[in-house]
Amino acid sequence: MTSTAAQSAPASSLLNINALFDNPLFAGGIGLASIGAVAAFGRKGLIMAAGAARRRLLVNVEISKQDPAYPWILAWLSQPRPQTGFLASRITRIHNLSVSTTTTTAAMANSARSGSIGTSSSGGGGGGGGPGQTHFFLQPGYGRHVVKHKNAYIAVNREKHNTANMNTGEPHEVVQLTTLWAHRHIFEDVFAEAHRLAAKAHEGKTIVYAARGMEWSPLGDPRKKRPLASVVLDEGVKEGIVADITDFLGRQQWYVDRGIPYRRGYLLYGPPGSGKSSFIQALAGELDFSVAMVNLSEMGMTDDKLAYLLTKLPKRSILLLEDADAAFVNRRQRDVDGYSGATVTFSGLLNALDGLAAGEERIAFLTTNHVDRLDPALIRPGRVDMMVRIGEATRYQAGAMWDRFYGDMDEDGSARERFLRRLDELGLFGGEAEKEGEGEGGDEAIKGRHTSTAAIQGLFLFNKNDMEGAIEMAEALVPRKYEP
Ligand code: ADP
Repeated sequence: MTSTAAQSAPASSLLNINALFDNPLFAGGIGLASIGAVAAFGRKGLIMAAGAARRRLLVNVEISKQDPAYPWILAWLSQPRPQTGFLASRITRIHNLSVSTTTTTAAMANSARSGSIGTSSSGGGGGGGGPGQTHFFLQPGYGRHVVKHKNAYIAVNREKHNTANMNTGEPHEVVQLTTLWAHRHIFEDVFAEAHRLAAKAHEGKTIVYAARGMEWSPLGDPRKKRPLASVVLDEGVKEGIVADITDFLGRQQWYVDRGIPYRRGYLLYGPPGSGKSSFIQALAGELDFSVAMVNLSEMGMTDDKLAYLLTKLPKRSILLLEDADAAFVNRRQRDVDGYSGATVTFSGLLNALDGLAAGEERIAFLTTNHVDRLDPALIRPGRVDMMVRIGEATRYQAGAMWDRFYGDMDEDGSARERFLRRLDELGLFGGEAEKEGEGEGGDEAIKGRHTSTAAIQGLFLFNKNDMEGAIEMAEALVPRKYEP
């Protein structure tokens, strides 16, 4: 019984299925469903085929905002292109532009012109806030564009993502270039041209990088190279440093052969406004280097951050560590209350100079206004190889600066002599001349008086083309006593 029933069941379900198919409504539904399935398969197939064709026929390059080539490519894209035919020019015209504005305040513009690149210096020479120079730079906006380069069309897609770069807090951004596989070699050309364009834009300029979050980013526009001759240091000082660094740059193989890290460190110390930062910037310009600047007294600059930044030091740049004494002040502070705030410590600085973070190749300049606060452990080959005092203005410097400002007008040099004599009278070269003139005792009040080169520059700037005015106003160079 059981088996009969079991055998008869399939026969009845077969019957039922046949009956179902005989039903026109059901058969129609199945038919439609099959067509839908075939269409869906077809669509999927087409998408896959298009994807495969895209992969085979097109070639794609993606550049992220973190890449140094990113701004070059944007600049390359925004340059005017020769118009080719009506249709081509309609297709390849970029309609959607965005503007990037950089503004330098009057103070920054002044420091760029004069060379001060630090925040710690307090020299004369004008300054203040207020509007300065503004540069507008048009670049392709977000979205899709098409450009034509030589005989290739390139589809450009600039996209901003909604994720942020953890280091800077800025949204991720990429630009994608797509062209036909057959034209893939055009990218080499595009990158070479974009690089050439960027190099040309930076010709005769010095880029100053500062730490922004955990990244280096250019501080304002690249600055016009400051001629080395415009920085007047005491006799032989500049030449000594330039000779040392030139020798170092020519000796890479010597270091490699001996297995010594190719590093050199310089410490420039002395009062503010003596030209330390200006000299480093001018030197970088002379050597065709950029400057990567860190202020060690800046809040939030920690050992880890400094070490990380050093691993990503921009190529061909001089590392400038300003206010080197901050690390030592912090150490003392930590000894007192166990906490020095989020700043660089002494060991962090040493690690940056010759520890694991230091990298194999590097030129570092440290500056300080308080050499007495430094630890002797800093002065060691590979950390600081050369220590140079850049001090108050000497008679030699005052004379050389006079020549730079009034050399053309003061043909026989007599006004120069009067100016220097006036400075002698005011005792501005340490009061020595006055003391000798007055015999024993001298004028105690002027003993040890000095002025800064920044103040002399300020005086000359105030009296442009007016030698007599500068001599008359020379008394303004006498440092004022602080009166609360
Ligand atoms: P520092 O870094 O020693 O504090 P800066 O280089 O910032 O000094 O100089 C401050 C200002 O004074 C700048 O405008 C700079 O051009 C000018 N200055 C200072 N010293 C000199 C110098 N020795 N030669 C030329 N300019 C100088």
